Amino acid sequence: MAPLKLIVGNWKMNGLTADSRERAEKLAVAVKGRGNLPFQLILCPPATMVAATAEALRGSVIKCGGQDCHEQSCGAFTGDIAAVMLKDLGCTYVIVGHSERRQHHRETSLQVAAKAKAAHAAGLIAIICVGELDSERSAGQADSVIAGQLKDSIPDTATAENSVIAYEPVWAIGTGKTASSEDIRHMHALIRGKAGKLPILYGGSVKGSNAAEILHIPNVDGVLVGGASLKAEEFLAIAEASGEGK
Ligand code: PEP
Repeated sequence: MAPLKLIVGNWKMNGLTADSRERAEKLAVAVKGRGNLPFQLILCPPATMVAATAEALRGSVIKCGGQDCHEQSCGAFTGDIAAVMLKDLGCTYVIVGHSERRQHHRETSLQVAAKAKAAHAAGLIAIICVGELDSERSAGQADSVIAGQLKDSIPDTATAENSVIAYEPVWAIGTGKTASSEDIRHMHALIRGKAGKLPILYGGSVKGSNAAEILHIPNVDGVLVGGASLKAEEFLAIAEASGEGK
């Protein structure tokens, strides 16, 4: 049987607890009792809504994840959240190295690797994000930028069971622009060569109307979805595209 496509919703800093609970419950009801789903849904709410979301997903096949974690397991780090705390709330996954963290919080690839390592130590699956800037792509540097980010962001504890790579070209995030199928095919093949069996997601303006094409490109093991994951119906339409054409 083909591995399940991973469909990850990154809710970023949106909504309040009631919205999270409602969306999670709606999705849980939509997949309940359906055998042989071709996808695994993963919801990554803002930190304050993780507990309510995990609670709403109790007994469901849908998993919960955090959007970031600190590289240490405890200590004097005001405002930060340890991986073990996310695990404690019922998370299975955590996103690390999202481009918005790299850009707004100056996170380096070496820090991202330390965060992924902390996630592994806490028993979480790390979704490690990489992606080139528009200027880097225009300068013909996309391949070398991604190769460098992969080299420094994947810790030595990473395995195909505890880590996922998300390729998210920065210029495609929240812009409505998606990478061409050829560019995705090329970059995912490059990442496969460097990351071995680790699942590889594509992210960047994925929506219901383009998901089927993207999800059927070789070496695309799923998608990381921002804006379109905020509506349960649209997110579900993306997930259902995993099974189209089979
Ligand atoms: C993201 O935030 O990881 C993302 C891919 O956002 P969007 O789908 O809105 O481009």
